[in-house]
Amino acid sequence: MDDLNLHSPADAMNDHAPDTTTPMVTENKPAVPNAFAQMGLAAELLAAVRDLNFTEPTNVQLKAIPLALQDNADKPANDLLVSSQTGSGKTAAFLLPVLHTILIERQALEKEEAKEWALKVEQAKANGEELPKKPRRKNPTDTRHVKPAFPSALVLCPTRELAQQVAKDAIDLVKHCKGLRVACVVGGMPYPLQIARLHNADLVVATPGRLLDLQRSKQLHLSKVQFLVVDEADRMLDLGFAEDLADIHKLTESRRQTMMFSATIAPRIQQLAARIMRTPQRLQIESTQAQKSNIKQILFWADNQQHKRKLLDHWLRDTTIDQAIVFASTQIECDALAEDLQQVGFSAVALHGALSQGLRNRRLQALRDGRVQILVATDVAARGIDVPSISHVFNFGLPMKQEDYVHRIGRTGRAGRDGLAVTFAEFRDRRKIMDIEHYIQANFNAEVIPGLEPTQRPARAPSHEPRRGKPGGGKSFAGAKRGNGFKPRSAARS
Ligand code: AMP
Repeated sequence: MDDLNLHSPADAMNDHAPDTTTPMVTENKPAVPNAFAQMGLAAELLAAVRDLNFTEPTNVQLKAIPLALQDNADKPANDLLVSSQTGSGKTAAFLLPVLHTILIERQALEKEEAKEWALKVEQAKANGEELPKKPRRKNPTDTRHVKPAFPSALVLCPTRELAQQVAKDAIDLVKHCKGLRVACVVGGMPYPLQIARLHNADLVVATPGRLLDLQRSKQLHLSKVQFLVVDEADRMLDLGFAEDLADIHKLTESRRQTMMFSATIAPRIQQLAARIMRTPQRLQIESTQAQKSNIKQILFWADNQQHKRKLLDHWLRDTTIDQAIVFASTQIECDALAEDLQQVGFSAVALHGALSQGLRNRRLQALRDGRVQILVATDVAARGIDVPSISHVFNFGLPMKQEDYVHRIGRTGRAGRDGLAVTFAEFRDRRKIMDIEHYIQANFNAEVIPGLEPTQRPARAPSHEPRRGKPGGGKSFAGAKRGNGFKPRSAARS
């Protein structure tokens, strides 16, 4: 993604000119009443949802949106604590109600202003006075008119990539909302452009560090924030943002609603919720396992690092691969592996947190454009990547935390497609594999590739069904449709 200090695409037409007239009906698409419409969302947002081809809400959207929508402005809004995995549609679940409320309130205000104006004109006419003149529109691109932003909604994300993805989703959703502006604030981007683009932003999607940086230098004020969303709260704590979160909580204390989304609601998340939320409504969205049923997950045991490398090489020659992410455990492993893959002719690039943000953006864009086939990434850098053509995820280095396994495999099988997640593990990683199995409440199907079988055997013998046919299994991949590649825990243990 090239430049992600983003504005609403409607900006070109709408800067500053309030228009309170008709609700949007886009193109010739029929306004079919669906569950989104039944939630009472604004017509502009329904039009965007239609453009995105979201025909029905996902589970998390179905449950969270009605709870988050404020049906009565005099009543306090519900705070929400939602456990929901990546890929569940959680972004729209928090963006839609927030954008809806901002939009409706803005429209009411504009109506009020229009009424006052009409009254002023009437009075001037009745008194025979000169009619009042509307103030001239200022050129929004003129830097002299740039004022610090007072956003009314703030979404916090743990990583730059996730913030950029959420901002992009927000831009898609405000496509038909005149004058609603979205800005993205992440580290590693040039300050002047970011500051200029913050101008008049209604919704800011940010990583905590750069946000506080801009707040302290008074480029951005948080005192008017009404809605605070903490996305991937578990990751936020993992990355050491607890203090920043506490600061942002204080700076936005007069807000009316807080929503927190997290893969798990572990005790530390509950403690955080108790600190920053008012008796939140808790929503538990379906289990990890059920949700990932379109992703086939398999495991290959390896004797050592070289053996893993051979297995990966074998898999990467699979012609069914559209695009793939190969996960590495460390930045060093990530760089070395990407270089190694390039050397043997693969179109591969590395993505990790030590690279400049500009380079990370360019590499992600190359992946999105299909100019790169294989992304070798660390966990942090790959969070939030939403590229539907990623058909395979390879866990070359195992994740440090079990939750990361779920985040990793969620990079494939997106937008209703099937995906394949392949994990390579050495026998000394047995404990980690068991921890992952425990976390996802299922056991891996271990497979072998003829000619690349491990010489050792793990303590708990995996089912050694030889893979046949093409590398990558060809037909075996189609098996993703039959199931998710797991054995039920009880059967597998017996
Ligand atoms: P998220 O969990 O927010 O990262 O969303 C995962 C993917 O689901 C994204 O590609 C979204 O565009 C897509 N998505 C979100 N809501 C819907 C929906 N109601 N129908 C179809 N796709 C959706």
